[in-house]
This record gives sequence, C-alpha cells and structure tokens, in this order.
Amino acid sequence: MNTETFFKLTYGLYIISTSSHGKMNGYVANTAFQVTAEPPQVAISCNKDNFTSHLIEESGLFSISVLEEQASSELIGLFGYKSGKDINKFESIPYVKGKTGVPIVTKECIAWFECKLINQMDVGSHIVFIGEIIDFGLLHETKEPLTYAYYRNVKKGKAPKNAPTYIKPEEPVVASAKSDSSRLQKYQCLVCDHIYDPAEGDPDSGILPGTAFEDIPDDWMCPVCGAGKEDFEPLR
Ligand code: FE
Repeated sequence: MNTETFFKLTYGLYIISTSSHGKMNGYVANTAFQVTAEPPQVAISCNKDNFTSHLIEESGLFSISVLEEQASSELIGLFGYKSGKDINKFESIPYVKGKTGVPIVTKECIAWFECKLINQMDVGSHIVFIGEIIDFGLLHETKEPLTYAYYRNVKKGKAPKNAPTYIKPEEPVVASAKSDSSRLQKYQCLVCDHIYDPAEGDPDSGILPGTAFEDIPDDWMCPVCGAGKEDFEPLR
C-alpha cells in the first residue's frame, strides 16, 4: 500500500488555542473544517496527549487562527513542536483575546474564529471537538492561507508525531558510514529539537550517511520542521 495516498487529501494549517484557569496554550493543526453553515460550526481533531486538548475540555472554548502561506518556521516550530506543559507559548508572540477570553494568535495569521464547544467524540488517539463559531475576524484580505501541501512540498515540513496525519517513517537507512562518522559532531534543531546525526545523514534529502553537518549544502532544511541550517546548534 502506498502511503502517498493520504497526501492526496488536502488541508490548511491552523493554530488552535484556548485558555483555562489562566493557563493559555495552542498547537498547530491541519484538521479544522467547517461542518455546517446554519449555525456555523467547525470541527477540529486534537490528540489526547496535547496539553491543549485537556484545556479545551476544561474551558469548553477554542479559537482557530488561519496561518498565512509565508508563516515562519519559528512560529510553526513554537506551536507545533514544543509542549505547553514546558513553556508559555504566548509569552513572545502577539495575540488578542476574544469575547470569551480565549487567546487568538494574530502573528502571521490571516483570519480567526472563536468557538464554543458544543460536542465532542472520542476517536481513539484523538478527540474530535465540534464548536459553534461565536465570533470571527479577517486580518489580511489579500494574503494566501498556508496549505498542508505547500508546507510539505515547499517548506519541506513534516507532521509531528501527535498529528492525525502523521505517518510512521520507514525504518532508517542503515548507516554505511565510515568508521569515524560516529565521532562527528551531532547538531540539534532549535525549532523542533530534531537531531542531525552524521552517521545517519539525511538520505531523504540526498545527504549520505557519514556527511558532517558542516558539509551539508546551505539550503538544506530540517527534515522535521523545515527550519534552515542556521537554526541548528552543536548538540552538547
Ligand atoms: Fe526542526
């Protein structure tokens, strides 16, 4: 079976946010879609392990911010690859509060919706939340929204493990590295924490096992989040 089949389904990319008992959090989602027009309702699918999932169940509220096509890997990395259990994601980015007090990300977003939870369904690893739209706003009329296809094909981003669309990668290519490649310096992505190991290289991007980080072309991008080479630091 060809798992490429799943990439023929099309999606946008959004930041889903909420707050409960003074704690704000948000995550990057591709599964947000309008289910009815009258009343206007949307559905989102949220991994049970996501901190936001618990906060939405507590607060009964969430917002959807529509990412613009040129959204930065820093913003996507902050909301998509880091856990709100460890950091306050809203500390360093601009946002507004909706009618209900939920945070709405405005940085690099073109539109937003504020929703009241009216139903939910346990679907195993995820919970599908249905919300009624109680307020919405347009931030940029002319900018294009970021689609999942653009994120994958142009930004070279991949889905984090908690995403509904995550597909387990094939077994890594066995390193045919020279015997000393295990002594080469490993580098870590500051955006998503992915570790580049010279012994494994990045065969999907044409980087052979045994390639030192310094020898990777400058336009290479993190295979997980799409961050640039300059966003990596030596792993200590
Ligand atoms: Fe990364």
